[in-house]
Amino acid sequence: MDIKIRNILNQFKILRSLQARIFVIVFLIGIIPSIIMRYGILNSYEDRAVSLRTSDVQRQLNIIANHLITYNYLTDTSSEVISAELEQLSNLYDGRVIIINSNLKVIKDTYGISEGKTVISEEVVKCMKDGQGSSEFNDEYDYIEFTTPILEPAPMAETSEGEKPKEGDKARDIVRGVMLTSVSTDSIVVTLDILSRKALIMEIMMLFVIFAIALVLAKILTKPFERVTKAISEVKEGFTDEPVSVPDYLETEHIVDAFNQLLTRMKALDTSRQEFVSNVSHELKTPITSVKVLADSLLAQEDVPAELYREFMVDIAAEIDREDKIINDLLSMVKMDKKVASLNISVVDINALTEIILKRLRPIARKRDIEVVFESNRAVTAEVDEVKMTLILTNLVENAIKYNREQGGVKVVLDADHQFFTLDIIDTGIGIPEESLEHIYERFYRVDKSHSREIGGTGLGLAITRSAVLLHRGSIKVSSIEGEGTTFTVKIPLSYVVF
Ligand code: ADP
Repeated sequence: MDIKIRNILNQFKILRSLQARIFVIVFLIGIIPSIIMRYGILNSYEDRAVSLRTSDVQRQLNIIANHLITYNYLTDTSSEVISAELEQLSNLYDGRVIIINSNLKVIKDTYGISEGKTVISEEVVKCMKDGQGSSEFNDEYDYIEFTTPILEPAPMAETSEGEKPKEGDKARDIVRGVMLTSVSTDSIVVTLDILSRKALIMEIMMLFVIFAIALVLAKILTKPFERVTKAISEVKEGFTDEPVSVPDYLETEHIVDAFNQLLTRMKALDTSRQEFVSNVSHELKTPITSVKVLADSLLAQEDVPAELYREFMVDIAAEIDREDKIINDLLSMVKMDKKVASLNISVVDINALTEIILKRLRPIARKRDIEVVFESNRAVTAEVDEVKMTLILTNLVENAIKYNREQGGVKVVLDADHQFFTLDIIDTGIGIPEESLEHIYERFYRVDKSHSREIGGTGLGLAITRSAVLLHRGSIKVSSIEGEGTTFTVKIPLSYVVF
């Protein structure tokens, strides 16, 4: 919508309400046709009344014009019959008749004002010339003016020696004079006024009825939206967390559906948050409980030999290390949640980085006789966050070693195309059961809790790894066969694009 219109709507806040708009539309749709109808009917009444009056008067004038010739009125104005006819006409229509002879002299004026005068008005001269009558309605002063020719029928055309008159030879009537008549249309105007007043009263009555209908309709039609707001408010206030239902309109159903989806998502988020908090508390509590048990059992005994102290202290130190690891993992995860802003992108030699990480991890692998090999298909440099990339590789290779068998093997394969580089971390370990595959990226999820704990796992490693991969707009996939081994495939774009 145009910004200007929006500004105007903002100023008149009420116009932004659907209720106000429905009211205005219904009101206009109701009232405009009645106004148009009033004007239309009154105008057509006036046209019809004027045309009826015109043809009425015209007919009578033609009769009088004939009589004028019959009674030879143009040369002798003493005819009583004509005077009576003229009188009647002017009384009937509140009009004035002027009779003009062929010399343009007024021989009769029913008003008696212009007798003897010469008339040289354009219409009279024209009528005299072509023998055609005319009429014109003057709606400013409310009268109709007529010019009527006084025609004497033409004598039969003379033909020499019995010749028949040629076809098409039309005998022309002779114009002996003109009648100039004006009749008032006051009576039409009076009727029109009465009608107009009645129509106005009806219109005002209709206005009230339409106003009431528009008001009621606007209220009824917007009711479902009020119901939606009320239902959502109830959820918001915490009275209920049941899905909302307002099926009155398709539109309200759509709004409510979208809201219910949001509600379900929020509930899921809330459940996952609660689960996470309880998991964190549990995980953090376990090492402390162990420390407490170890310390208590030392305190409970008297004259504890130094070796036992030492043994217990080693266990206590291990539990403290574990606590430290969990806290560090939690911190890494929180950092990962901060999204794009926390990425520190630079051009990194992936081959060199992998070599360094594998070199660091080989001593751990060697303890269990596990061979770690690196297979690089090409030299790869990519725009990545070096610290997070290290975290990804370390976690995956560490897992491949941790969940391996004695004398097993780990192979890291690096490859690239023109867009992405891929790292396959392949191990010959214990594998992951199929039903666990979809859960391994969840926080604190471990296939075998006690085994993982034994080898120092927190259940956060893969969650952190996946977040780090997604931050680079990459993907991570896993395929595994229980008892045979697991392959993790990480695919990351070579160049980082900020959207
Ligand atoms: P943890 O700290 O327990 O290793 P992770 O999030 O790294 O947690 O891994 C989650 C679980 O997935 C592990 O507990 C383990 O059961 C399973 N897992 C991960 N990597 C492998 C692998 N390479 N082989 C077998 N199981 C694995």
